Amino acid sequence: MAGDYKYKRVLLKLSGEALAGDVGYGIDPKVVDDLADQIGEIVHDGVQLAVVIGGGNIFRGMAGSAEGMDRSQADYIGMLATVMNALALQDAFERHGIFSRVQSAINMQEVSEPYIRRRALRHLEKGRVVILAAGTGNPYFTTDTTAALRACELDVDCLMKATKVDGVYDSDPVKNPDAKRFDRITYMDVLAKGLNVMDATATSLCMDNDMPMIVFDLTEKGNIARALRGEPVGTVVES
Ligand code: UDP
Repeated sequence: MAGDYKYKRVLLKLSGEALAGDVGYGIDPKVVDDLADQIGEIVHDGVQLAVVIGGGNIFRGMAGSAEGMDRSQADYIGMLATVMNALALQDAFERHGIFSRVQSAINMQEVSEPYIRRRALRHLEKGRVVILAAGTGNPYFTTDTTAALRACELDVDCLMKATKVDGVYDSDPVKNPDAKRFDRITYMDVLAKGLNVMDATATSLCMDNDMPMIVFDLTEKGNIARALRGEPVGTVVES
């Protein structure tokens, strides 16, 4: 029941990598299926969910521009990559009995609705998952910034950032076995310590608008529901 959850309306930020599985590239149907399973649990319990999906499993604008491409052109390719991921997610959601709508920040009327805030809110109220594609629709931004922006616009209770590690550490836990994990940390400290949580634009937007964020390990099954019930999963980042 939604009553069991501390957070009733949330925005989940999934990186493109989260769909790639062990191959590290593209879309792994098995991984997307497992994800839909976890998401089905909370949505069927009545949690209102918006998802911002990245595109790094297919294309990143920065990588393209490092190879000599025009940055804006490369970023548009990156945004289009997020639309492919959004459609793959929607497909899995449908097979799991989850109603959803894709809303794209770049108009693509044959495969998605345009992003319209009021319509997105209405979908959420009706229990449909809103999958937000094409980032902000502008080059030079990231899907983390999109997540921060849409979280504020859609008035969610918290932003959930799915990662492969169980929270925010003072150094990379993969490289440093003595890295210390934070249970809670402020956005100011994230910026001051230069911690690699989100880019500075996304971090500032959350900080300025009092948007709390939970950074958690998506690979641990059931973690989305646990985090939303307020169990100590990952790191809470606050203003
Ligand atoms: N992108 C963009 N504007 C946005 C969001 C994304 O130009 O508002 C582009 C950018 O090139 C980025 C790519 O889309 O590299 C994929 O998004 P991101 O790197 O944030 O995906 P993730 O790392 O979450 O998979």
